[in-house]
This record gives sequence, C-alpha cells and structure tokens, in this order.
Amino acid sequence: MKTSIGVDVGGTGIKAVILKKDGSVVAKREIPTPPRFTPRECAYVLKELIRGLAAQSREERCIVEGIGIGLPGLIDRKRGIVRYLVNIEGWRDVPLVSMLERDLKKNMHIDNDVNAMCLGQLLFGQGRRYRNFLCVTLGTGVGGALVFHKRLYRGSTGSAGEIGHMKLVTGGRHCNCGADGCLEAYIGNARIAARARRLFRSRRATPSRYTAGSTPALEDITAAARKGDPLAKGIWEDVALYLGTTLANIINLLDLEAVIVGGGVANAGGVLFNPLRRVIQEKTMRQKNRKVAILRAMLGKYAGAIGAGALTWEE
Ligand SMILES: [Zn+2]
Repeated sequence: MKTSIGVDVGGTGIKAVILKKDGSVVAKREIPTPPRFTPRECAYVLKELIRGLAAQSREERCIVEGIGIGLPGLIDRKRGIVRYLVNIEGWRDVPLVSMLERDLKKNMHIDNDVNAMCLGQLLFGQGRRYRNFLCVTLGTGVGGALVFHKRLYRGSTGSAGEIGHMKLVTGGRHCNCGADGCLEAYIGNARIAARARRLFRSRRATPSRYTAGSTPALEDITAAARKGDPLAKGIWEDVALYLGTTLANIINLLDLEAVIVGGGVANAGGVLFNPLRRVIQEKTMRQKNRKVAILRAMLGKYAGAIGAGALTWEE
C-alpha cells in the first residue's frame, strides 16, 4: 500500500497523518506545539513524530513514499528552506529539509500550510470538481492559496495567495504585518472576539454561557446568532461584508469557479456563509453562465496534514 506521512505545524498544535494515495487516512496523531519552538526543537519534535508514524506504517505494511510538512510562513520549497514563520520567533532562513533528511532519509517536501491544505482540497476535497479556485483559511490569521488549471499557483517567490493582507480600508486598522487596513485586521478571530465583547458589554442581556466582561468564544457568538440574537448576527454579517467584498474583487479579477473556506472561523457555518454568499452575489460583476460556489472545506481538522502528505504526489 502506497502512503505518505503528512505533518501540519501550527502555532498551538502539530498534527500528522499516514495518508494513502487515495486520500484515506491510516493513522493520525496530534501533539501540542512546544512553547519555545526554535528550529532545533522543531527538528527534534518532528523527527520523533515522523519516526513514530514510520514505525506504525511498517506494522500496517505501508510503503512510505515521502514526507510532506506544511508550516505557517514563507517557504522556499525548492531549496527546502523556511524563510520565516508567522507568529513564531527565531525563524530566519532555516534549512529544515537538510536538518531532517540526514536522519529520516526520505523524499521530503515542505510548503506553506495553506498551500498544503489547498492541495488536499484539490486532490481529495471540495476542489476535485473545479479547475480554478481559491482556498481561504480563517483563524488567527487569514490565509489563501490559488489553484489554476488544477495546479497550485505559488507565484514568483512562493508567496501567492496572501488574501489576509489585501488592503481593504485606506488608513484603516493596524495589522500585524506592519501595514494598515488589511482584511486580517478586521476578521482575524481575536478581532471578532474583541468586537463581540465590546458589543455584548453595551447591553444587559448577554448570550448564554457568556459572562459579562469576559471575551466570548466564537462558538458562543455563533450559538447566539443561530438563536436570532441581533448583535451576534450582526457580528457575522460584518465579517461576511469584509470577507465577501475582498472575495468579490478576487473573483472579478480571476474569474474563479469556487471559493473554499476552511479554518476555525468557518465553523460558524450558515450564520457566516449565508450573508457571505449574499455579499458576493451583490458585488461580483454579472457574467453570463457564471455561478461561483462558496463552499466549506472538507477533510476536517486534519485537512492541513492530509494536504501536506499529498505534497509527495503533487504533479
Ligand atoms: Zn497585514
């Protein structure tokens, strides 16, 4: 049985799978990301994790054809170098592939985590039915990756798809990237929660499970919105307005067939997707025969690890 090992390195957790070539998962593991996540620490943790899965794959009589790793940052995948990681300090031009290959001796690929997730959707998820689409991940940050003609488009330096830093508001809110008015500064999950706290504090009646003064979890805002709470609904409608406006611009520019939305914030479901579809419908230019599908990503919380494993077989 031909398999690969896929690893998704995140700010809080590292997820890994043994992936079959048909997209099914043989085994999965999750460990917390160590607090001081230096390149040396990372190499050590990844080696342990991958060795464990390799041993398990031998028991399952799998042939591991390659190892793929997705990381949140700018990755020079041809040279196997991590240029930098977002929100994890101490990473500049780290030759991660050569650090790991010495011990693991396997066909190894690294890439940006959203690219990996997008490849997973293309081969095994919502992207199978489309030739040209955008993947968006909504979480602490807002990431993106593009597929043209059934292939990932990475751009000239590997950084294509940075939808989170599209400038939405001239002179707007300050963003972690150093610029002002980026989409991420308006719909990153911390921003959504902070906005909810302010709005809920301004009135007496608060949604269930939310105690005045604390920062509500996104699930609380979603639950309140589903019950018809106007403030909570308004929060998601604002997210839909910012995101939908950005997506409409991208759809007008690139004439896409679909947008696939993943990440924790996408768990809001209909209270986000219904207004989002409406905003996109209103703001895209009318083209004959055009119907852009706005879809939730498939493959669950291991979508990034599955996509990283798929890097082994990318054509
Ligand atoms: Zn930015």
